[in-house]
Amino acid sequence: MRPLSHSSIGMYLECPMKWHFRYVQKVPEKPKHFFSFGKSVHDALEFFYGVKTLPPPSVTELIKYYDDNWITEGYRDPRQESDYKEQGRGILRDYYKKHIETYHIPYFVEYGFNLDVDGVKVTGFVDRIDKVGDDRIAILDYKTGKAFGKDAAVSSEQLTMYQMACEQLLGLKVERLTLYHLPSQTAITSEPHSDSQVKELRGRIVRVHADIKDNLAKLERAEIKHFPTVFTRDPSLPRTSKMSAETVCHWCDFKPLCPAWEHAYRKPGAEAAPAEPDALKDDAKIAKLVDRYGKVHDEVKELEETLEELKAQIVAALKDKGYVRAFGDRYEAAVRSDERWEFGPENRPKVLEAIRSAGFWDRVTGPLAPKVQELMRDGGLPLDLRDRLQRLGKKVESITLRIKKVSEEK
Ligand code: SF4
Repeated sequence: MRPLSHSSIGMYLECPMKWHFRYVQKVPEKPKHFFSFGKSVHDALEFFYGVKTLPPPSVTELIKYYDDNWITEGYRDPRQESDYKEQGRGILRDYYKKHIETYHIPYFVEYGFNLDVDGVKVTGFVDRIDKVGDDRIAILDYKTGKAFGKDAAVSSEQLTMYQMACEQLLGLKVERLTLYHLPSQTAITSEPHSDSQVKELRGRIVRVHADIKDNLAKLERAEIKHFPTVFTRDPSLPRTSKMSAETVCHWCDFKPLCPAWEHAYRKPGAEAAPAEPDALKDDAKIAKLVDRYGKVHDEVKELEETLEELKAQIVAALKDKGYVRAFGDRYEAAVRSDERWEFGPENRPKVLEAIRSAGFWDRVTGPLAPKVQELMRDGGLPLDLRDRLQRLGKKVESITLRIKKVSEEK
């Protein structure tokens, strides 16, 4: 099995099936602009710190290297790409300005490691390692994504892994661990992680490795058809994502290939298959349709809940900032507030009386559709009135299909 890394462990814990697509079946994922952007900036910093002797590259050389090695994959359109490229130039200029006075050649830049954790091979790269005195080091990881909180460095498992690797392989104690947020030029630093954090991570690595081996063996023996999905993963494994399972799938490139979503994607050639004219008369097919309808119905319900949750979070965040609009990479959200009045049932007669006495009665009354339906269903309706109404309208059939889960026993 290929060595595990911080990101592959994270992916396995998010969804084993996704890990299998990515690392065993090697199905390529779509290029993502945020990966391309992050790598372009990281590569430029590697160039900046990668000199063997002083002086360091000038800011012009740094920006030229960045421009010449810019990764273009994954951007939505040229406009988005040029916006990001300009943002990256700004980040590098600011970084240069802030750090050129204290520039020194690091102990390691892009330090690649291969580690053995209780028999499990683990691999990774550390962005930068600085020597502190003779026998200590400082580890630094650059981030280009969203801003993070003050505790991020204290709890980062990625930093725990780097600490473990460096101490084991370089034989030097870690003095401090830093996450450096490049867009805001903010360094969040932590003390070395505790022995219990290291122990917990080692346990997690061994656990994930054992789970992968177990599933590979089951697949080999045809005891399972595929790796567990985000819906069927072992719940005793820790979760790395706070997103709902549906949201995890929403962002997954492998969804069209995934067994969990088979129902949502036609197999190639399925369109061409001629429909059997009497197919729906077959009880088994009806039962299948009912089950499928119920499953999709449940999924829609869960998605609706997720949607409501996200909506509430966005509305709260926009209100907090006083914004009416916000942009993601692919969507824009705008909030509009409509006000309406609600009157308690106890005040209803008073409200109607106030309107009637002010001469506005016609504005609020009319043949309200639900009330007319009720009238038409009334068996005691005078025949001539029913006849007149029937001639004025037409009867339409509206169908409601109610679905609920069959009890387990059944
Ligand atoms: S679509 Fe969902 S269940 Fe399938 S591999 Fe992706 S994350 Fe896993």
